[in-house]
This record gives sequence, structure tokens and C-alpha cells, in this order.
Amino acid sequence: MARVYNFSAGPAVLPEEVLKEAADEMLDYRGCGMSVMEMSHRSKVYDTIIKEAEADLRTLMKIPDNYKVMFLQGGASLQFAAVPMNLMKNRKAGYILTGQWAKKAFAEAKIFGEAVELASSADKTFSYIPDCSNLPITDDMDYVYICENNTIYGTKFKELPNTKGKLLVADQSSCFLSEPVDVTKYGVIYAGVQKNVGPAGVVVAIVRDDLITDDVLEGTPTMVKWKTQADADSLYNTPPCYGIYICGKVFKWLLKTGGLEVRKQINEEKAKILYDYLDESKLFKGTVEKQSRSLMNVPFITGNDELDAKFIKEAKEAGFENLKGHRTVGGMRASIYNAMPIEGVKKLVEFMKDFEAKNS
Ligand SMILES: *Cc1c(COP(=O)(O)O)cnc(C)c1O
Repeated sequence: MARVYNFSAGPAVLPEEVLKEAADEMLDYRGCGMSVMEMSHRSKVYDTIIKEAEADLRTLMKIPDNYKVMFLQGGASLQFAAVPMNLMKNRKAGYILTGQWAKKAFAEAKIFGEAVELASSADKTFSYIPDCSNLPITDDMDYVYICENNTIYGTKFKELPNTKGKLLVADQSSCFLSEPVDVTKYGVIYAGVQKNVGPAGVVVAIVRDDLITDDVLEGTPTMVKWKTQADADSLYNTPPCYGIYICGKVFKWLLKTGGLEVRKQINEEKAKILYDYLDESKLFKGTVEKQSRSLMNVPFITGNDELDAKFIKEAKEAGFENLKGHRTVGGMRASIYNAMPIEGVKKLVEFMKDFEAKNS
């Protein structure tokens, strides 16, 4: 068995330990004679799995009791609609446009009300996070929306925007559990887990409980209303059982390896290896302004499309997979999520140095 170094932006690398454990439990989950895939979501065994997953996530993120944790479906993309449907009482909200995922959420919100662009970094192809210290937020806005880590462009909010007292909603899909966050600063955090936590098919939503009500936009489907799932502890209908089980294992792995403070240190150390090299290289350069750099997604280019293609091809042959940049931006992107070991990044940089020596 040979595992590659997988730099995919998502679905992405998972901890080997978790995959092995899941493999061991595949045919017979802890003596119950069946796989977690095959068991009732109403069984006692499964109830323990989902309850433990929630409890471990609460411990990891220090989630206060007045926040509900929900395991949902429909991807992060369905939350683009769920957010306005559940929160737009005045039918007006502010959006900070820092890339394609923010733009998609913005477009979705426009279906339901007035979505206002508060700031944007489109002028420089989303290569930075705009100044959010004094945004044109008005009193009638229901919330302020950010995409906290921009998976495609490789930027991250290092400081949360000044929302002038308005509710903050954050799509954390690609930075979820990569470092500690102060949950109390947010009204809503949600994340598709296929970036940093588990298999595609699960979205974790952490929502302050006063925001979970029956007072939603007219026509909101039952399944999109947060209250439906919150009241049912994520078991209103059949949840993505197996995906939640894997997420639970990843939560335990994160706890066992020191929690989010330690994780942040490791992620900073990993990202530094790559950024330091990009800063000194004469061939490769990072595309993001230094103060906005993501710890999770690192886009870079040579400035020559043919050389980019050659690099991606040779890297693949050497066991570094999925380094091609997003189809809309080109170049390269290394996603170095929690489960990417530090050796993977070190070896990638060695390979890049070698490529640079041979191609300059
Ligand atoms: C991948 C991604 C999405 C879309 O997630 P789906 O689960 O495919 O809907 C949304 N936001 C961010 C930041 C992402 O990285």
C-alpha cells in the first residue's frame, strides 16, 4: 500500500489513523456485528456515536451551552440559502466579497432579499482581505456575512470584521478546526466537513440558540429551517450517519493530539515552510498578499502556464497529488489541511527546489 501526499482542496486528506480505525470497524462495529453504514440511526449504538461526536466538538471548540450544534446535509452550498431563510427578518444583509464562495452566498441571498456588498477584494482577483474596520453597515441589516477562509484564492480573515453590533455569520468550511475560534463572536458558524474534517455529505452548523426560531421566511422548506434539526438533535430525518461517525473520529484525533491550540502551532509551522520558500524562490511565487495568507490553502504560480503544467505533471509522478490550482484561477494550489503531515510539506518544498534548479 502506498499513500500519496494529497494536496486536494476537498474532499481532502484525512488522518491515516482514522481511516485505519474505520477499516478495522468496517464489518463489525465494536461487536454489534454490522457496519456503522448498516445500522439504524435510531439505535442505541448510533445514538452514542452522534452524541459523542457533538460532545467532542463542543470540547474542542469550547462551544458555549447557548449554541446548538447541528449535523446537516446539502453541503455548505445549501447553507447559502439557509442563512437568509432563517435570519432575514428585515430582508437585508451585508456581504463581504472575498472570493467565489462568498459571491455564491451573496447571489443566493439576493433571491430572498436585499444583499448589500459591504467590501470586496475583486479589484485584485481576491488576493487580499479588505479592510473591514468601518464598513457601511446599516441598522436594518439582519447580519454580516463572511467566508472566513477562501479556499480558492488562499486568503483568510486574520481579524473578524467590525460588524457594528450586527450578527456575524461565517462560512468556515476550509478553516474549520484549524485553529481556536471564539464562538461567542459569531451568530452562526458553518462548515462543509469535506475540507478539513471528514467525508463529503456533512455540514456542521453552530448556531446561537436565540437565532433558531419558527420565524423564518415564508416558504422555507422544513429541512432548511434550522429549528427542525435543532429540535430533533440532527435526527429529524436520516442523517449522513457514516460521515458523522468519521467526523467523530477526527474530533477524537484532534483532542488526542493536543486540541486546537496545538493544531494551530502545527499548521503555522507547516504553512511557514511553504511560504518561506515561496518568498525566496526565483521561480515560484505566492499569489496572496502576506498579511492575508491562509494557513490551509496556498496558491502559487511560476508565471508561465507551460511550466506550471510541467510542474503539476512531474509532481504527480513523484507522489504529490492534486496540486493543480482551481479551474477558474489556474497555477498551483497546495491545500495543507490538518491531516497533511509536516513531512508532506517538507518533501513538497524539496521537490519544488529541485524543480527550480532544473528549470531555471
Ligand atoms: C468547498 C466550499 C464550499 C462549498 O461546499 P459544498 O459542500 O460543496 O457545498 C463553500 N464554501 C467554502 C469556503 C468552501 O471551501
